[in-house]
Amino acid sequence: MGKENISYIALGSNKGDRFEYLTRAIQEIIQDKNNIIENVSSIYETLPYGYKDQGNFYNAVIKITTSYELLDLLDLLKSIEKKLGRENSTKWGPREIDLDILFYNDLIFSNNRITVPHKEAANRDFVLIPLSEIAPDLNHPALNQKICDICIVESEKTVIGKIQQKLTSWK
Ligand code: ADP
Ligand code: MG
Repeated sequence: MGKENISYIALGSNKGDRFEYLTRAIQEIIQDKNNIIENVSSIYETLPYGYKDQGNFYNAVIKITTSYELLDLLDLLKSIEKKLGRENSTKWGPREIDLDILFYNDLIFSNNRITVPHKEAANRDFVLIPLSEIAPDLNHPALNQKICDICIVESEKTVIGKIQQKLTSWK
């Protein structure tokens, strides 16, 4: 493994076998020798955002060490989404699997393909709640605030609760 970078990735699925999609996405990430999984949150069931007329999501967050540069990591995640059969690419519509880069080291960067920290990360309870499980003291580099100190706005609450099944295939 080359230079080690730390990245947090948000996983979401609201179509088909949601647990299976999250499991397979993690397996694909691990199979790539440039990545090591360091930690995985619980899975949370959450109400859909954007178009409300779609199924509930399963959401989780993972921490990885990666030797990929940021855009190469994005390419990998996009190729995994494709491989796992993500068909509908409607923004905020139903999807088999969504893989978003929340943070990449403490980088603040934006171009036409990516923004890190992820633009919505700090507004979404389905990101903040699983993230605070595995990284409460992580500093959000753009807000300069710890994850556990970022307020969740009442009107944005989507998390219904933790599900019992655990993502253990990475251990
Ligand atoms: P959503 O915003 O619901 O995740 P998509 O998964 O369809 O929607 O993503 C649309 C585009 O967002 C991607 O093709 C990607 O280029 C871009 N994008 C911008 N920032 C990020 C990020 N931090 N992680 C992943 N994709 C990102
Ligand atoms: Mg996405």
